Amino acid sequence: MTSQKIRQQFLDFFKDKQHKIVPSAPLVLKNDPTLMFNNAGMVPFKEYFLGQKTIKNKRIADTQKCLRVSGKHNDLEEVGIDTYHHTLFEMLGNWSFGDYFKKEAIDWAWELLTEVYKIDKSKLYVTVFVGDKQDHLDFDQEAYDFWKSHIDEDRIINGNKKDNFWEMGAQGPCGPCSEIHVDLRTEEEKAKTSGKDLVNKDHPQVVEIWNLVFMQYNRKADGSLVDLSAKHIDTGMGFERLCMALQGVTSNYDTDVFTPLISEVETITNHNYGKDNETDIAIRVIVDHLRAVAFSISDGQLPSNTGAGYVIRRILRRAIRYGFTFLDQKEPFIYKLTKTLSNQMGDVFPEIKNQEVLIHNVIKEEEHSFLRALDQGLLLLDRIIDNTKDKNISGGKVFELYDTYGFPFDLTQLIAKEKGYTVDEEGFNTHMQKQKERSKAASAVETSDWNVLVEDEEEEFIGYDNLNAKVKITQYRKVITKKDGEMYQLVFNMTPFYPEGGGQVGDKGHLEMNNGDVIYVLDTKKENNLIVHYTKHLPKNTTEIFNAVVNKEQRKLSASNHTATHLLHQALRKVLGNHVEQKGSLVKPKSLRFDFSHFAKVEPQQLQEIEDFVNARIRENLPLIEKRNVPMQEAIDEGAMALFGEKYGDSVRAIRFGKSIELCGGTHVQHTGEIWYFKIKSESAVAAGIRRIEAITNTAVGDYFVEIDENYEAIKHVLKNPKEPVKAIENLQEENANLKKQIEGFLKDKASNLKDELKDKVQQINGVNFISAEVSLDANSVKDLAFQLGGEIKDLFFIAGSNIDGKAILTIYISKNIANDKLHAGNIVRELGKLIQGGGGGQAFFATAGGKNPSGIKEALEKAKGYL
Ligand code: ATP
Ligand code: MG
Repeated sequence: MTSQKIRQQFLDFFKDKQHKIVPSAPLVLKNDPTLMFNNAGMVPFKEYFLGQKTIKNKRIADTQKCLRVSGKHNDLEEVGIDTYHHTLFEMLGNWSFGDYFKKEAIDWAWELLTEVYKIDKSKLYVTVFVGDKQDHLDFDQEAYDFWKSHIDEDRIINGNKKDNFWEMGAQGPCGPCSEIHVDLRTEEEKAKTSGKDLVNKDHPQVVEIWNLVFMQYNRKADGSLVDLSAKHIDTGMGFERLCMALQGVTSNYDTDVFTPLISEVETITNHNYGKDNETDIAIRVIVDHLRAVAFSISDGQLPSNTGAGYVIRRILRRAIRYGFTFLDQKEPFIYKLTKTLSNQMGDVFPEIKNQEVLIHNVIKEEEHSFLRALDQGLLLLDRIIDNTKDKNISGGKVFELYDTYGFPFDLTQLIAKEKGYTVDEEGFNTHMQKQKERSKAASAVETSDWNVLVEDEEEEFIGYDNLNAKVKITQYRKVITKKDGEMYQLVFNMTPFYPEGGGQVGDKGHLEMNNGDVIYVLDTKKENNLIVHYTKHLPKNTTEIFNAVVNKEQRKLSASNHTATHLLHQALRKVLGNHVEQKGSLVKPKSLRFDFSHFAKVEPQQLQEIEDFVNARIRENLPLIEKRNVPMQEAIDEGAMALFGEKYGDSVRAIRFGKSIELCGGTHVQHTGEIWYFKIKSESAVAAGIRRIEAITNTAVGDYFVEIDENYEAIKHVLKNPKEPVKAIENLQEENANLKKQIEGFLKDKASNLKDELKDKVQQINGVNFISAEVSLDANSVKDLAFQLGGEIKDLFFIAGSNIDGKAILTIYISKNIANDKLHAGNIVRELGKLIQGGGGGQAFFATAGGKNPSGIKEALEKAKGYL
């Protein structure tokens, strides 16, 4: 059975059981301070479990893209080494939100595996939670009893908190779970050891395929558990592992999810899979990591130096490094796999197909730059090895190499070993640990639990229509961050404050308390489904109703920039083509920034066209046509440009100005005329295939023009108000060039006159032609002069002293045929240099010294004779 079909059967099965099938949510999370990537199928539904949002469909099924490379669930180090953990994998899941519970979850899982997929019952084991004293939780008798009706009791295994109590992170929804394991070993091996003893023992062929989680608790910040308001089902089945079980193979990499990529790597690198352990690991790492990186890029997360982007960069670098060391790939090659991946996955995940070119280019560029860094690192490592006396390279040195060039520790160790050196691993780890502590300290946050004042009210955003409102606090908490110190986060029953999102910064403003206090709102952000207002102070009375007021002026300017961003997007597609896609945006009151896919510099002529297009739309004074809460499909059918980052259940809002239609949650002007004017300030590259435009609108353009005008007037004033200032500057430039030429001529004449003068001053001393002179020339000209004299006068000893802006220079030239250890320009200049309070040196026939005492020059010239 092909993997395509396996996936489809899962979805069809649950569709038959009245589940709504929804697409995968994006891999990269927004509005979540605790998590960077989706690491489990339940993450997109977190708000529903917590009761912060009510769901339309109580039963849902999907396949969710998951990435486990950071935080609580981090499998990165296992990946490639073993055959069943991936960085990116698909998690098939079925969900009940306050609907069915343990019985149906267990019955259906069993039915699907044994009747639809026809897995032999003798290959399956299940686990149930034994309970936990610390958390005051009992043995899961219920689950046990439901399983008992399907499976022999000796195949039901007790599991502890580590394996059978599922938690998303340190906080959040959680609950006991039951896992299903499959034993894929041969009959012969099974006879030797019972599968029962290998469950949850990291055996590569006795693996967990499905986890049924019975969500019923919320883990609070203080570690305690509280009941959720309803009981839910959250199941997760590893798609690639399921394929392994159904395709009769014993490694995820032998399923058709991976074999096309592996054979592509074999062709490109000329290495075969399945022959040698090191090669195999490298190939597995590469095909796995390619998928992770490609999926992230297609969800809008490019490799970068911070946050989620840095995690992606590190994954790719791990793959490059394995290719470099074990497959001998010194040139970029991983990007070549993009096409195969897109052919394979493009139907189920169209974002991979749509962004194939971008993925290809970004990976190629990353490979290029990391391979360059590796090259540089190798050179440095050679030097380090050369300078290491005791055959043990210090941990500090290795850490520096890692920290500045991203040069991997294990690569250093490998190369060192090849040359008979060891590496101080402990020292390296100490440095690593210290760095971690430093960055942890820098981002330290302390968050206390929410103080809930009013339960269960869904916070409403009313800021599209209102800039102030009478509100009350429903919950608040104190947070302490390194950057801002102590802050309060307030959540209201409803709010006019726009939370940062869709590139637009959060509103600022103030709260008018009834006792006359004013509390400033410094920022507004979204945290999962909550709109959080940041303040420095907590109101004295947290239960009163008060006036919340948005800073109107800033909001107006943000709206102006946001609408202009839509028009810019439209203009870019019009002028550059439909390949242009939004890759990021920042909308502030003062300016806007827009990143988009495009593979060449935008020419000045095109920029002008883009600017003109936007300004034409502004002059048309197009009205805002806004539709709220439209189904996603309806908006897309009307021609709206879908933004990445939407997930099932997000209500979409369509924003239209003339022919520009976008799905957008931001704030906008009522008519484009309010933007006044749009001006592009810069165009640049951000990454391979991604360009950035920065622009301004509204009062910022006014300020900009005033500034330009002032500069222009100042220039005219300096030029004495000519009729044609440009002509006047050109004249000045021409005049300047002519003068320069003249001066060069004069200097040449001067030098040659000087030479003639000096030739007349030759003194014969002991058969040597001696010349000494004070000259007003810079060091280079004196050198020229010395060599010219040397060419014309035999047996010459020439010494010149010059005073250049208060600094003394001595220059000595001695014809090569008479220069020797006794008559040595370098030695002489060093001694005479003391007279000008300086030092210098050089060769036997030419040397210079510099010093800070020009008054010593005379004496130096006088003394020089003594050497003859
Ligand atoms: P394991 O103990 O094997 O690491 P887990 O306990 O971390 O699994 P869950 O968090 O319960 O797994 O995830 C649900 C299912 O997702 C698992 O049963 C497994 O089939 C699959 N899965 C988990 N982690 C990975 C991974 N890194 N790569 C591929 N599949 C995975
Ligand atoms: Mg795991």
